[in-house]
Amino acid sequence: MNRSGQGLRLCWKAFDFCCQDVREYCEEKRKVKVMQTAVATFPPLVENAQVADPVRRFLEYVLNKREQGNPVVGVYCGYAPVEMIRAMGAVPVSLCAASQRTVPAAEAVLPANLCPMIKSSFGFIQTNSCFFFASSDAVIGETTCDGKKKMFELIAHLKPTFIMDLPQLPDDSAVLDRWRESVLKLQYFLEKTLQTSLAADRLEAEIRETNRKNRLMGRFFAYLTCRPIPVSWREIYNVITLEHVANSVEFQDLIEKISSSIDQRIALGQCFGTFSSPRVLVSGCPVGGDACKVLQIIEEAGGVIVALEACSGMKNYFIRIEENSGDPLRAVAESTLSIPCSCMTPNRRRLDLLDKMITRFQPDAVIDVVLHACHAYNVESYKIRNHIQDRHGLPCLKIETDYSDGDIEQIRTRVEALFESLETRK
Ligand code: SF4
Ligand code: SF4
Repeated sequence: MNRSGQGLRLCWKAFDFCCQDVREYCEEKRKVKVMQTAVATFPPLVENAQVADPVRRFLEYVLNKREQGNPVVGVYCGYAPVEMIRAMGAVPVSLCAASQRTVPAAEAVLPANLCPMIKSSFGFIQTNSCFFFASSDAVIGETTCDGKKKMFELIAHLKPTFIMDLPQLPDDSAVLDRWRESVLKLQYFLEKTLQTSLAADRLEAEIRETNRKNRLMGRFFAYLTCRPIPVSWREIYNVITLEHVANSVEFQDLIEKISSSIDQRIALGQCFGTFSSPRVLVSGCPVGGDACKVLQIIEEAGGVIVALEACSGMKNYFIRIEENSGDPLRAVAESTLSIPCSCMTPNRRRLDLLDKMITRFQPDAVIDVVLHACHAYNVESYKIRNHIQDRHGLPCLKIETDYSDGDIEQIRTRVEALFESLETRK
C-alpha cells in the first residue's frame, strides 16, 4: 500500500466523523426511522465546502499529508499524546470505531456482549474498511479497559503497535512518573518505527499549538452559554473536528469567521429551540458515529445540546499544557493524565469537570450515555447521577445504548418523559 491510500475503500467513522458511504447509509436509515430534525436550517457557519464537509476535509488532509511524506499514526484514545506525534512530523488520526455496520463481522470473533466501540473498531479492521488504519504506519493503543487491550492483541500483528501502560490511580504519588515512563517508551517506539527523532523544541512548539487551539475553542464554546443557543449539535461537532485539520493560525481564521456568522445569527434572532427549550449536558462514553442518534433524538424531542462532556466532545479542550517547563515530555504526560476517564479510580476530577461545565453552560438536565458493556462508565453513572442531583438539583437520565437503531423509539420516549418532567418542575 502506498501512502496515498489508493485502492482502499474509503470507509471512516471515528468519534466524530463518518465517511461518505457510511454517512449515506445512516441518512438512508434516518429516513426509514423518520428522524426528522425539528430545528430550522440556517446558512452554514462558514461558506467553505471544506469546512461544511468534515469527512472530505479529514480524508483530504490525511491524503495530502501522506503525499508530502508525513507518516500517519493511528490512535484510539484521548490518552495518546498527539503533541509528541506531531512533533515528530507525523499525523495523528483517530481510527474508525463507531459504526454498527462493522459490528456483525466483529461478532464472528469477539463476544457479542462487548462494548460496541471495541466491536466496531475490530470490525473495521476485519473487513479492511478503515482507511486510516490501512494508512497508518504505526498504531497506539492503551490499557484503559480490558476489552480494548485484549482486542489490541488480535490486531497487533497487522501494524507496528505500541500499547501504553496507563496507570489508573490518579491520586497515587508515583502516577506521573509511571505515565511519563510510558510516554518515553512510546517516544522510543515511534522514533524507531518512523525513523525519526523527537526534538524538545519541536515538542515545546506543539504544546504551544495545542494551548492556542484550545483557547480558541474556548471562544466558540462561549456561544454554547447563550439562551437560546445559536448552534446545533451537528455544528458543535463540526467545529470541534476542525481543530484536527488546521494549525493554530488557520484555526484562528476559521474561529473568527464562525464567530462572525454566529453573531449575525444572534442579531437576526436565528436560534435553535426557544428560550425555554430544555438545555442538556451529555456526559459519559464517547458519543460519535451511530451513537449520535442520542443527540439527534434530544433535538427532535425539543431539547438543545449545550455541552458534551465526553472525549468525543469538549473534555479535552479544557486542558492546558504547561509551557516552558524544562521537561516538555513530563508536561505532555501530565496533561493527558488529567483526562477524567472513568477508567481512573477514584475519578473525582470528572465530578469537578461536571461542576464547572454545569456552572458555565447552565443545563436543565444531564443525560449520561453509557455504551453497552462499558462497566467503568456504567458503574460510575450511579455516582454521577447522585452528584448531579444532590449538588446541582438537576435530573440525570442514564441511557444505555449501542450503535444499532433498535432502541431509538425507546430512547425517544425516555427523553420526552424527561423533558415533560422538567415542565412540571417549573
Ligand atoms: S473515554 Fe477513556 S478510554 Fe475512551 S477515549 Fe476517552 S480517555 Fe480513552
Ligand atoms: S466505552 Fe468503555 S468499554 Fe468501550 S472502549 Fe471505552 S472504556 Fe472501553
